[in-house]
Amino acid sequence: MSETIRAVRGMNDLLPADAPLWAFFEQNIREWLKSYGYREMRTPILEHTGLFKRAIGEVTDIVEKEMYTFVDALNGESMTLRPEGTASCVRAAIENNLLFDGGKRLWYAGPMFRHERPQKGRYRQFHQVGVEALGYAGPDLDIEHLLMTARLWKKLGLAEFIKLEINTLGGAEARASHRQKLIAYFAAHIDQLDADSQRRLHTNPLRILDSKNPAMQAMVEAAPRLIDELDAAARAHFEAVKRGLEDAGIDYQVNPRLVRGLDYYNYTVFEWVTDKLGAQGTVCAGGRYDGLVAQLGGKPAPACGFAMGVERLLVMMAEANLLPAPDVPDVYLVNVGDAAARYALTAAESLRDAGLSVVLHAGGGSFKTQMKKADASLARYAVLIGDDEVAANQVTVKPLREGDQQREQQRVALTEAIEFLKG
Ligand code: ATP
Ligand code: MG
Repeated sequence: MSETIRAVRGMNDLLPADAPLWAFFEQNIREWLKSYGYREMRTPILEHTGLFKRAIGEVTDIVEKEMYTFVDALNGESMTLRPEGTASCVRAAIENNLLFDGGKRLWYAGPMFRHERPQKGRYRQFHQVGVEALGYAGPDLDIEHLLMTARLWKKLGLAEFIKLEINTLGGAEARASHRQKLIAYFAAHIDQLDADSQRRLHTNPLRILDSKNPAMQAMVEAAPRLIDELDAAARAHFEAVKRGLEDAGIDYQVNPRLVRGLDYYNYTVFEWVTDKLGAQGTVCAGGRYDGLVAQLGGKPAPACGFAMGVERLLVMMAEANLLPAPDVPDVYLVNVGDAAARYALTAAESLRDAGLSVVLHAGGGSFKTQMKKADASLARYAVLIGDDEVAANQVTVKPLREGDQQREQQRVALTEAIEFLKG
């Protein structure tokens, strides 16, 4: 035998056993998004590298070390597998002039790619559902996003496991002045900064606040706070967001150190976090990014949005036993002998015409072996066709599950069997 070829590390197959949970999740997502009037977008998985460099920022973890970037051998261009969806969504909105008649509420879902160390809840191909509201300036949209995520956790049964943290990054001026103070502060404590943070001191000092290094915690805790630099407009926006949460009865915590790993954010940022996933605690994150549309070449338009990590949410659902009922067929169609096999093909189609789901036994075998398969399929009924049935132009219907067992096995014409099965 030749050597087996394995999947790329950190990239997972979705196997039939897990597919119902994904389908259940996706169904819920569609209903939920529809109930808020968001419309679906799909963008390519591959984009020009420049898009992500410009949108996410050169000095971010994603752009510095997580992107799958390669040179297209045909034309020498640098291409990147998308590491997130906001940049593509905004690019597509600009390119297709979606904002010509005002704001748009959009969503997308699909695989994202980041070259990280794989572990539970962290993969190299993972899936996000993302929501973007383009062209809206007011805090009402920030609030809408927080209320809608809160509603989703309830809908999925996860509300008790996930908590909301919010912060504001203020406007450009507040960030610039805070940046100067941060650099001065961290420069004064340079001996306490780890190598990563020293490297970031002048490029992205805000990210030092996000450091998980325990040795730096006390020093970072005492760093100058952005929240103290806010101008009146930023303060009013943040107050309105908090008031919206309070009006809706949603618990939250202000975390002044919450900065997010992407450069495009301003004003509100938020994360929904859990303690159920170890270090991979953030299941959904987002905020306002008023400058991004203009930064990508569009007519300036304010915007906000968020993305959730599907795998992390599904791990939580599986661990909390919030699993959908398994997918089972209505009928397992047992057929023994050549004539029966022929009859079974058309009988199965007739059953499907009537709206029933049918697994047609394939591969032959005795009644006994086929009935074992019927049982294992979890089908509610077996429909049996053998020589006797073919001769009489009938089928035998056998209930397989408790609750259906009081219905007697019977040999009837196919039309009668259909009525019985649908009854
Ligand atoms: P983290 O701090 O966990 O690295 P992040 O800040 O890089 O997350 P975002 O870019 O905000 O994450 O992406 C939004 C969500 O996508 C995250 O909150 C998380 O649920 C999910 N996510 C991000 N990276 C991965 C990954 N490598 N594998 C699985 N899910 C991920
Ligand atoms: Mg990350």
